[in-house]
Amino acid sequence: MRWALSRKRGAPDGLWMKCPSCEAMVYRKVVEEGLHTCPECQFHFRISAAERVDHLLDADTFEPLFEELESIDPLGFKGKKSYKEKLKKAQEATGHREAALFGTGKIAGKQVVFGIIDPNFIMGSMGSVVGEKIARGAEHAYDHKLPLIIISGSGGGARMEEGILSLFQMAKTSAAIKRLQDAGGIYIAVLTNATMGGSMASWAALGDITIAEPQALLGFAGPRVIAQTVRQELPPGFQTSEFLLEHGFLDQICHRKELRQRLVSMLRYTCADMPVAEKPQQKRHTAKIAKTNKVQAGT
Ligand SMILES: [Zn+2]
Repeated sequence: MRWALSRKRGAPDGLWMKCPSCEAMVYRKVVEEGLHTCPECQFHFRISAAERVDHLLDADTFEPLFEELESIDPLGFKGKKSYKEKLKKAQEATGHREAALFGTGKIAGKQVVFGIIDPNFIMGSMGSVVGEKIARGAEHAYDHKLPLIIISGSGGGARMEEGILSLFQMAKTSAAIKRLQDAGGIYIAVLTNATMGGSMASWAALGDITIAEPQALLGFAGPRVIAQTVRQELPPGFQTSEFLLEHGFLDQICHRKELRQRLVSMLRYTCADMPVAEKPQQKRHTAKIAKTNKVQAGT
């Protein structure tokens, strides 16, 4: 396996599906046409890294970087399952080696460094490889004077199976992003459900512009843990995108269907070398990606 993009999603198969947020029975095709959002309440379903690439980048422009990196098991960690087993299972389920997928690609013709943390890979938690890819992504953006865009999906926060090594990544990613920003580079953070723990306490919160998908759970410790610790009832909607926007932590909330165009606008505001007009988009076809994977899988 060199690298591969899987389209595994969080929803079961069938013509109809139940929205976990509003509990309405919704027609799967309508959900899919809405880029995996509920037509009733706009709940955003979990999607794979491949779908993010399809939705946001110009067709066939994604070139992966740092794909040689693969986690080791530094602590010989064993819980119900060993860390090695968890990694293997996640690799098989997602088709890629780690939760972070980084590369270069184009948005409306503008070259960017693009990163996605896949929530389907050990809850998108940040171990040494995820941290290293984020730091290298920021360094690549710095070296080549490119905007950095990272789509988070790190419900797992820092990866406990790597102990202190995963916590090191908070400082490393933050330093690399600061260096990019100090040099005048731009970092756009897109926060998706859920982004928590060490990820939210470092790279995910450092965007020059921070955009979130609606109803995403964003925070450090989970709401249940906080409620038990402070022994107080938490305000309604605590740690949701809407709550954080109201309290000044986010710049914008953006529906997934509008996210690409929003990123185009942001790049236009911030990049002097942005191509003037967007070429009409070809339909993003998954077949080409699948074909690419096949070739790369054999290398
Ligand atoms: Zn719903």
